[in-house]
Amino acid sequence: MSDQYKGYRNPARAVLKENGVSVWSSVEMNTSRGVFKGLILPRSETADNKHIMLKLHNGYNIGIAVSTIQEIRELGRKEAHYKIPEKEFPVDPKKPDVKLLGTGGTIASRLDYRTGAVIPAFSPGELYGSVPELADLCNLDTEKLYGVFSENMGPEQWIGTAEAIGREIRKGIHGIVIGHGTDTMHHTAAVLSFMVQNSPIPIVMVGSQRSSDRPSSDAALNLIHAVKTAAESDISEIMVCMFGPTSDQYGLLHRGTRVRKMHSSYRSTFRTIGDIPIAMVNREKITPLRTDYKHRRLDQEVVINTSFNEKVTIVYYYPNMQPDIIESLADNGYRGIVIAGTGLGHVNKPLYPALKKACDNGIAVYMTVQTLWGYVQMYVYETGREIMGLGVVPCANMLPEVAYVKLGWALGQTDDPEKVKEIMLTPIAGEITEREPYNGYLIYQGGIPEVEQFLRMIKR
Ligand code: ASP
Repeated sequence: MSDQYKGYRNPARAVLKENGVSVWSSVEMNTSRGVFKGLILPRSETADNKHIMLKLHNGYNIGIAVSTIQEIRELGRKEAHYKIPEKEFPVDPKKPDVKLLGTGGTIASRLDYRTGAVIPAFSPGELYGSVPELADLCNLDTEKLYGVFSENMGPEQWIGTAEAIGREIRKGIHGIVIGHGTDTMHHTAAVLSFMVQNSPIPIVMVGSQRSSDRPSSDAALNLIHAVKTAAESDISEIMVCMFGPTSDQYGLLHRGTRVRKMHSSYRSTFRTIGDIPIAMVNREKITPLRTDYKHRRLDQEVVINTSFNEKVTIVYYYPNMQPDIIESLADNGYRGIVIAGTGLGHVNKPLYPALKKACDNGIAVYMTVQTLWGYVQMYVYETGREIMGLGVVPCANMLPEVAYVKLGWALGQTDDPEKVKEIMLTPIAGEITEREPYNGYLIYQGGIPEVEQFLRMIKR
């Protein structure tokens, strides 16, 4: 197969030939779905033969179905290679040692133009080659635990990560950074907050929304902020460190049990829910926004408890949900159900008998709210009291995903409903708080400059 059409097989290859274009042609494509401008990328040999891969100017790669193509015009040619220079990470005995544990996700990837695939770039040398500022902060060592997009993280990887954290802490590391896909970073942050307790050092999770081959990538800055936090901060909690405002002024450090991915594509996607973030971080300093965090304490012994029962689920309630959903969970051996209920924690009446049966059979059923902000309050309406009467336990202001991982962790330790309840309702890492700050909802959304800009606009 000619190199010019690398990876393309007929009919896609024939379409390229007919139009006098090939791999690395910069083109304008007229299709029945509209006009697309971009660079034709090589095709992975294992991919199908019906699409042409186009890298759009905004950095996204899309597959154009050849059946929709009417005409392709070549505008020029632009051969791209992508190779991160490897440089030896300098060691300075005066700097703290930080360990970066990789699990995968966009932060660990760059585009391989040969195959169009996203591949990991992870050795200390590669990181130093692409983000040399890291060497001003610490001596960095890396270990790739996994190389998965975060939808593929689960109990096996959570447990493996918790164990790796324990190993590093016992070896005396000064701070840990965990590279992770953003999509489920909040699940992992929550589960690690339960599995790893009493950490003497900061444990900072970090991801990126845009891969490092894109000009608008947040990978380098997030990494610098996370490494700075691991190396220098006094906060020994499980945190998520990501872009604060949409501009790149600062990052925010979110508590592992109160954080959530809230936007599918913005870089400032992580938000602290029902509270305010722990701190802001920029290249110069870490500025705490609160005082009630756990402080670095090297005399403290870390406790790793990786129990987890996988027969746990979240049920997101919707109007007209049928009881067979709950029944089939019970029939399939589920031991724990977290409901994300409406409003203050409600589901419809037809579910009541199925929920009662589940609770009577020893299934742990816990209520959270879909609104995310605010508390489950089941004493306000008669219906709430009835649902509690069935055996459903309200989870205060624990976020649904947090309640899900905590229930799996609790049921991994005991089957006794009273003990499970005690574990669930005793706050361990900020997952239940006494009150939510009134201004948390309004302003601490990581967009202070945007809020100010917005207010200036209104005043005009
Ligand atoms: N799908 C990716 C993941 O969560 C997205 C990312 O890393 O931002 O692994």
